[in-house]
Amino acid sequence: MTQPTEGMRKVMAAAAVGDDVFQDDPTVRKLEDMAAEMAGKADALFVPSGTMSNLVALLSHCQRGEEYIVGQGYHTYWYEAGGAPVLGSIVPQPIMAELDGTLDLAKVEAVIKKDDYHFARTKLLCLENTHNGKVIPLDYMQKAYDFAKSKGLSVHLDGARAFNAITELGCDLKDLTQYADSVSICLSKGLGAPVGSVLCADKEIIKWARRWRKMVGGGMRQSGVLAAAGIYALENHVDRLAFDHANAKVLAKRLQEFPKLSVNMDLVQTNMLFVKTDLETAEKLTDFLKQHDIIILPGETMRWVMHLDVSSSDVKFVAQKVQEFFA
Ligand SMILES: *Cc1c(COP(=O)(O)O)cnc(C)c1O
Repeated sequence: MTQPTEGMRKVMAAAAVGDDVFQDDPTVRKLEDMAAEMAGKADALFVPSGTMSNLVALLSHCQRGEEYIVGQGYHTYWYEAGGAPVLGSIVPQPIMAELDGTLDLAKVEAVIKKDDYHFARTKLLCLENTHNGKVIPLDYMQKAYDFAKSKGLSVHLDGARAFNAITELGCDLKDLTQYADSVSICLSKGLGAPVGSVLCADKEIIKWARRWRKMVGGGMRQSGVLAAAGIYALENHVDRLAFDHANAKVLAKRLQEFPKLSVNMDLVQTNMLFVKTDLETAEKLTDFLKQHDIIILPGETMRWVMHLDVSSSDVKFVAQKVQEFFA
């Protein structure tokens, strides 16, 4: 929902560009180096979307007939149109995530297949942090990573919102991404770039990911214009994520005052809140708010997301409009 800022548009307009399909775009290269360095990985690849980033990562880790274990509600299983099985003949093995967003490692262990020609070959564990705005702690990440390694599995982290996670964890990106062999990070969510994600990993994975990116049509030409927005976002929009998290808590508390709405405060950990009500109220409220330029994701569980275009006075305005609605 974010709009590129004035500053972001300026650096986009002024970006030095080349042909990135020939790895000849200095601004894309700069973004990739910057992302790799921040994630503590040897290399990185700029891709048009988080979905493509996860897809090329899965395709790089797993061959045809190999399997990835993943949370059922995780993006890499539920929200990517079945890309990995359709395009890669990779077998997903989903399991239900726990309420805190983690995967129970005993449940993971139970679905790891032994080496037997009846079974798909288990190859990869896919994690997600944050998941539905919930922060997965570092000690879990370490445990999951060590567990995966002890089983000979690789780990891919869908870190679309990894910067939201580290904002709450109070650590560097590296401290989180050390527990994954590859990590995908969205520049286009709360960071506010118009498009783009970066996949960070070792050189071998990125070499394969570059080939898959080309194959699925994600090789872009003078994409330095877009990468410039990503660099700007990493330089200017990371520190301010804490404001979004604070805004989410303020709004969640206000919304709790309305008897028809329910918000589980324990789950308000980053920039999202999930607000429950009955479907009829949700639909009417969504329509009402839309008339006032407030866009929320409708449903019995509505999703309200804070980002760089939502100020603290906007939060007050939203609360006031909700009050008007119920009045
Ligand atoms: C948004 C998101 C993605 C996908 O990003 P797109 O750029 O929308 O394709 C992947 N994983 C998670 C957890 C996300 O929130």
